[in-house]
Amino acid sequence: MIPYYSRSLDFEKLIDEYPPAPLCYERVYAMPRTELDALRQRRFCEQMQRAWEIPFYQRHWKEAGLEPGDIRGLQDLHKIPKCSVYDFRDSIAAYPPFGDFMGVSPADGAHMPLSLQSIGGTTGVPRPMLYTPKDREVMAILRSRTLHMHGVRPGDVAQVVLALGLPNGGAGLQEALWKYSGVVPLITGPGAVTPTRRQIEIALAWKTTVLIGFPAYLRHMGIVARDEMGIDPKTFSVRLIDSYLGTDDRTALEELWGVPAYDCYGGHEAGNMASECVHKNGMHIYEDAYEVEICDAETGTRVADGERGNIVVTTFFKYSAPLIRYDYNDVSAIMPAVCECGIVFRRLERLFGRSDNMIKVRGVNVFPEAVASILGNDAHFTGEYLCLIESTGPSGADELTIVLESLELDETTRALRDPLVQRFREGLGLRVSVDLVARGSLDDMTGLHGNTKVKRVLDKRKK
Ligand SMILES: [Zn+2]
Repeated sequence: MIPYYSRSLDFEKLIDEYPPAPLCYERVYAMPRTELDALRQRRFCEQMQRAWEIPFYQRHWKEAGLEPGDIRGLQDLHKIPKCSVYDFRDSIAAYPPFGDFMGVSPADGAHMPLSLQSIGGTTGVPRPMLYTPKDREVMAILRSRTLHMHGVRPGDVAQVVLALGLPNGGAGLQEALWKYSGVVPLITGPGAVTPTRRQIEIALAWKTTVLIGFPAYLRHMGIVARDEMGIDPKTFSVRLIDSYLGTDDRTALEELWGVPAYDCYGGHEAGNMASECVHKNGMHIYEDAYEVEICDAETGTRVADGERGNIVVTTFFKYSAPLIRYDYNDVSAIMPAVCECGIVFRRLERLFGRSDNMIKVRGVNVFPEAVASILGNDAHFTGEYLCLIESTGPSGADELTIVLESLELDETTRALRDPLVQRFREGLGLRVSVDLVARGSLDDMTGLHGNTKVKRVLDKRKK
């Protein structure tokens, strides 16, 4: 027997349970809080039942003295120890090659269609993740909600500059666009897959209306069009950008392309968890599919609404690798007030940085991502940067050098160096050096043309 995909799920039931747009607006987005909470409790308890079947959680929870009956609902969530990428890595090392956190293995593909994607691997083997049909479809539906909230509509042509390779980015969008949005996916991938000039020619010839990808590469694409090909990005048919802005500068991207750019938040393990609506004022968390907590990075306890901490996620729908209190190490906050759009879901503030990216230089905590916001929308620079940390001098004190790519390495730009040193000193709270380099010279170090998120830190200190 071959497990045909079309028979692997009751698709009508799926759409009823996790409605895509536009159904979601009248159902879950407008659900009275008591009804939504009841739905969340029921889904959480089902997810816990599944998690108890998985060796990874059995080991961790038994060590913590937990019994299945101890967790009766979301109110008991704080009793469960958190886990993170570091635990998943340990699990893969101890139980290679897939770890023991998924509860399925490729052999299960004989009776259930499975897909396999991975993340990471710049050092070592990439982290694998198997997805069952329901995992995959719910994730595609949630990503399609994001697209719709950003204004993507049936008939659009969406050019996705994320690869259809090992990471989930390209594949996830292919499914969300094609299956649940009425949009033609045009997966050109990043510059390493389709050269940037070719991407621009395609966008013009095939009349791309939506651009989707990480801001660094979309900015690069606009600059190549403008400065190397003499084509104003504002003359493209593009009418909006659907991005993962994170800590990047929205205004610079919007001014370059002359269109609005919207933010959302997601991860390889959990899917797309939250998205901005048209008001661009925080990202609505898909509370029918996730519980998102904000926890203090050091003590681990949940913080009050409005306070910053790590994003800790619990999924409600995953069969393979359910996430129970998975700490993403991304720093954000829950926004207290209700959004004027009327969607009942609570909002995440935009990201402030990664707590495990946070670097300590001479006793000061620095988010490398803050460099982008301090630099802002300065037309002399490409927006590409790298934080280089070294122990230098006879005392071996830590030195932070911010390397910035300049559009033109001329006298005008060089004259900006000293004021920049001052701005970074004030913004980051410590003395730094600034190096200006030519456009494109950081590409190899940041991985701008690669398949994953861009790298912003090079720590050359001796451990
Ligand atoms: Zn809203």
